[in-house]
Amino acid sequence: GEGIEVVPLARVIAVTNQKGGVGKTTTSVNLGAALASLGRRVLLIDIDPQGNTTSGIGINKADVKHCIYDVVINDVSAVDAILPTRTENLSIIPATIQLAGAEIELVPIMSREVRLRRAIQSLRGSFDYILIDCPPSLGLLTVNALTAADSVLIPIQCEYYALEGLSQLLNTIRLVQKHLNSRLQVEGVLLTMFDARTNLGVQVVEDVKKYFREKVYKTIIPRNVRLSEAPSHGMPVIEYDPRSRGAEVYMDLAREVVSHGQG
Ligand code: ADP
Ligand code: MG
Repeated sequence: GEGIEVVPLARVIAVTNQKGGVGKTTTSVNLGAALASLGRRVLLIDIDPQGNTTSGIGINKADVKHCIYDVVINDVSAVDAILPTRTENLSIIPATIQLAGAEIELVPIMSREVRLRRAIQSLRGSFDYILIDCPPSLGLLTVNALTAADSVLIPIQCEYYALEGLSQLLNTIRLVQKHLNSRLQVEGVLLTMFDARTNLGVQVVEDVKKYFREKVYKTIIPRNVRLSEAPSHGMPVIEYDPRSRGAEVYMDLAREVVSHGQG
């Protein structure tokens, strides 16, 4: 109607897999930057105590005044913890090593599973996408991310044991759906670090597609050295080397994520 402005709410996506080294952080940073380059307003939330998204996007941890720890534990307003990045349309709520204590400190706290959801509720009108980079565990920080999220993006490394642990992750997702966040969906499954020269990689792709079917993104992320170099320069790959294969595939993924939201 006339005079009524519809403010679209951010889609909140948790990038989750309790295995380390599967490409969660690489995907958070580079999908975030790619969505931003498509003109979307993107907020990264680093909820991994290792803080790799924070440093990978070029934030000097010494300059961080409020981090996600303060938001989740100390009731600092989320908006006060947002920092701009050098990338247009891309902001971050950073993590510092302080967050390492949060997993334990959350245990006796009231409403411990819903603290992140409540904290970011007011930000939903200000962004198109909020990407939460999860730690490599299924502890309370990951549960907070799953409770705050609309959907989960699961990166799976095309390696031996790729499917190991996935049933545990899916079970955690089901428990969160049942008790904390009935809207939670699987956004998509992303195959990462694919090497077409190995039979193993090809086999993993087949197995994952058999299991997750249409949930698997068409975009498959290959091994690309630029993707592993970019974080040490504090840049997403589309800035570090825009013509690299790594940059191309994360742009493809961003377009795929955008088109899913429209479907
Ligand atoms: P996680 O956050 O799940 O622990 P990372 O995103 O940090 O995983 O990735 C683990 C390591 O692999 C990092 O050193 C990263 O730079 C590297 N890496 C991730 N994806 C790729 C890729 N597609 N090609 C090459 N190296 C990658
Ligand atoms: Mg990580």
